Amino acid sequence: MTMDKENILYVVGTPIGNMGDLSPRAAETLRSVDFIAAEDTRVTVKLLNHFDIKKPMVSYFEHNKHDKGVKIIDRILAGESCAIVTDAGMPCISDPGEDLIRQCEEAGIRTVVVPGPSAAVSALAVSGLETGRFTFEGFLSVNKKSRSEHLESLLDERRTMIFYEAPHKLNNTLQDLYSTFGDRRLTIARELTKVHEEIIRTTTEAAATAYLDEPLKGEIVLILEGKKSEDKPKMTLEEAVACAQRLIDGGMRPTDAAKEAAAMSGMKKNEIYRKLV
Ligand code: SAM
Repeated sequence: MTMDKENILYVVGTPIGNMGDLSPRAAETLRSVDFIAAEDTRVTVKLLNHFDIKKPMVSYFEHNKHDKGVKIIDRILAGESCAIVTDAGMPCISDPGEDLIRQCEEAGIRTVVVPGPSAAVSALAVSGLETGRFTFEGFLSVNKKSRSEHLESLLDERRTMIFYEAPHKLNNTLQDLYSTFGDRRLTIARELTKVHEEIIRTTTEAAATAYLDEPLKGEIVLILEGKKSEDKPKMTLEEAVACAQRLIDGGMRPTDAAKEAAAMSGMKKNEIYRKLV
């Protein structure tokens, strides 16, 4: 393969587990560029060693991206070519790279994509849920308030939703999904392309308690069914408010009562809370 490779940033997808998923074009690109910008050079060196590729690397990650971005741009403008890679999957998708693309655009540098696997799309494909329209939600915030704002903003979402999640936060998230959305179909895609790959097609209700004793391990994508048009509220707003009031009378805090009543009724937590106060 020949390529005119000067003054170009290549955005190269790398395997999400199985080394066999590095495409011949990706390998050739990594071989032919002048240098590689890697999220973690210790991770990428393993990939390069596996394919017997020797190439200078610079690190480019969340906390050095501004300064490193400027240096990478300067090198490309001076005539070098660069490939950006992350630890796994597509750069720029819940991974570093987005800012570098913007800096390239500002500097008039050409970008070329060398597509590879992405956990989000791979999980969606095997989810068994509707794939015609979907939304990628990335990671939920660890901050409780922004996390529940994010989830509540999706209450009426009809498209299939994709979330990334870290294993140690999974049980919390499964419980939040159930209390926010009620019972829905959910697919848990675990360790894709690896030895312990597992596709669990379940529901939010079942999943909320299924892994409390034995938490799931490994890398996980959650695929949540969108709201169905025939989803009818299980209670009217007035009934939901009355239900929340009973929970408060029983000693629950108003915000928790509104949340609980929302999960039971299918009504919006904020609306119940507003009526309560
Ligand atoms: N840029 C990557 C991509 O395109 O797939 C995603 C990077 S993000 C920092 C890492 C998250 O992706 C993990 O927390 C997990 O949710 C998901 N992930 C990555 N590899 C995975 C795999 N082999 N199986 C399941 N999920 C995976």
